Amino acid sequence: MQSNQHSLHWADQLAEKIIERAHREKRVPNVKCQQTPSGGKHIGNLNDVMRAYFPYKSVVEKGEKCTFVHTIDDRDPLKDIPAKFADLDAKWHDSSQFAELKKYLGRPLVRVPDPFGCCSSYAAHFTTVWMAGLKMIGVEPELHSVDTLYKAGKFDPYIKLVFENREKAGKIVSDLQTTKDATYVPFDAICPQCGVLSNIDDFDLKGRKVHFVCGGKAIKKKKAEGCGYEGWIAWGEGKLQWRFEWPALMCIFNTTFEPFGKDHAEGSWKSVLRIMPEIFKREPPIPFMYEFFLVNGEKMSASKGNVYIVQDMLKIMEPEPFKFYYVKRPEKQRDLDLSKVFQLVDEFDESEKAYFGKGEEKSENREENAKRMYDLAMSEIPKKCPNRVSFSFAAQLAQLLTVDKAVKTLKELGHISTSGDVALAKRRLAVAKVWIELYGKEHRLNVSTVAEANQHKSLLSSNQQGALSDFATALASAMNESAQMEQIRNICKKHNLPVSDFFSAVYSTLINKPRGPKLHTLVSVLGREKVASLLA
Ligand SMILES: [Zn+2]
Ligand SMILES: [Zn+2]
Repeated sequence: MQSNQHSLHWADQLAEKIIERAHREKRVPNVKCQQTPSGGKHIGNLNDVMRAYFPYKSVVEKGEKCTFVHTIDDRDPLKDIPAKFADLDAKWHDSSQFAELKKYLGRPLVRVPDPFGCCSSYAAHFTTVWMAGLKMIGVEPELHSVDTLYKAGKFDPYIKLVFENREKAGKIVSDLQTTKDATYVPFDAICPQCGVLSNIDDFDLKGRKVHFVCGGKAIKKKKAEGCGYEGWIAWGEGKLQWRFEWPALMCIFNTTFEPFGKDHAEGSWKSVLRIMPEIFKREPPIPFMYEFFLVNGEKMSASKGNVYIVQDMLKIMEPEPFKFYYVKRPEKQRDLDLSKVFQLVDEFDESEKAYFGKGEEKSENREENAKRMYDLAMSEIPKKCPNRVSFSFAAQLAQLLTVDKAVKTLKELGHISTSGDVALAKRRLAVAKVWIELYGKEHRLNVSTVAEANQHKSLLSSNQQGALSDFATALASAMNESAQMEQIRNICKKHNLPVSDFFSAVYSTLINKPRGPKLHTLVSVLGREKVASLLA
C-alpha cells in the first residue's frame, strides 16, 4: 500500500475531510450511497457506489474506523418498465414478455413481483443482480432496505418532525419547487387495497397515522390509477417523499459523506441543505457531486435499453482496470468507448508499472497520481510487478489460437514465465476474446486463404512480389526477432524497396490490412510453413 498522506487524489482529499469532521463530532464516520432497484442498474449508476467506496477505503487505510452503507430505495414506486431485464445469471431478456408488469406501475418496487419468479420481489431480484456485480469487483457495503427501515420504525422520529414542522416543510418545498404550494405535505400513503402510492389529506400525530383517499399518483407522464379506498393507515405504511426521505436516511445513519449525481445537485441536494438544519436540526453531510458518463457517445437509458451492468463489463475486461475507470477524476464527463476498451486497460497496465517503478518517466505529480490510482483500484497488490500481455496483443492471439496454445506461444516468445503470469494471461485472453467478438470489429484478424493471398499479391509491385518470395524462402529456417529484421532489411535492399512497403505488402497479403501484429509474432502464431505458403 502506498502512503496516502498528503495525496492529491480526490478520494484521499475527501477522506481527510471525513476524518476531520468525525473527530470534531467525536464519532465513527459514515459513508453512504444509494440505489433504486428499478431494473438492471447500469455502470453509470455504479458511480454512486464507487464515489463513496474510494473515500471510504482511504479513510480505513488511514487507520480510522468508518461504516459504509448502501441503502436500497425499495419503497419507491415502479415508474417505468425498462426495455430489458437481467436474470440472476446476468443474461438479458426483452421485457415485452413480461407485459403483466404494467399493472404494477405506481406500486412500491418491493410489492411488485419478480418478473423471473426467483426472488421475493422485483426489488429483491434487481438488488441481488446489483450486489452480485459489486461483489465481483470486491465492493461489499452494508446493505439496508428502506422498506425494512420503515417497518422497524427507523423513520418515525423524522416523519414526526416533518408533521410537527409541516408549515416550514411546505415553505421549503414551495420555495424550491414552483409546482408545489406551502400547504403541501411531503408524505404518501400506500393503499392497503391496491398498493398504489397516494397523497394524504390528514394526519394524526398522536396516533401516528395518516388519512387518505386512494386517488392514484402521477408517475412521470402517466398516472397510476387509484381504487378510491378511503381510510387511516399507520404512517409506517406510508412513505416520505424523496426530498425528505433522503435527508431522513442521512439522519438514521448519521451520514458524514455522501456522493450524488449531477441531477440531484440542482434539485434534492438543495432541499437537503434546508431540511437538515431547519427540520431535522442536523448538519448536512459532506457532499460530492459526480458527473455521469456516456457509453459509445450515448447516455444510457433503461427505457431505451442501451444499458450495461457490471457483469457485462467483466465479460470484456478484468475487474481491476474496470475499477480503475472509477478512480479517475469524477468531475469530468467521459465517454466510455467500448470499441477502445484496450486504451483503458493499457492505462491501468501503465499505472501498475509506475507503481512498481518500471514505468516511463513522467512528471512527479502524474506518476504519484498513477501509483495511487492503481493502489485504490486493486483489492490486493501483487508482491512484484506482474508481466501482463497487452490487451490488444491478447485480443489478436485469442482470435487465432485456443487459450492453451496462446499461453504456449506467449511462453515461447518470452512474454510470460511464472504461474502467476500464466493465470493473468489466461484471464486476459478470455476477456479479450469476448471483446473482439462483441466490440472489436475493427481489430478482427482474418487470415487470407491461398486464393485471397494470390489476389492481394497480384496487386503488388514487382519489387514487393520479389521481396515476399525471398522472405517466404528465408522462413524455411527459424529466426529470432532481430535476425528476422536483419533478413528483411537485406531483402529490401536487394529489391530496392522501402521497409514500410515490404510490411504493407506482407500484411495486406496475410490479413488484408495495411498493418497488424508484430510480424515475428504473427509468424510464430500462424507457423512458418503457413506464412511461407501464403507469401511465396
Ligand atoms: Zn429473481
Ligand atoms: Zn387503492
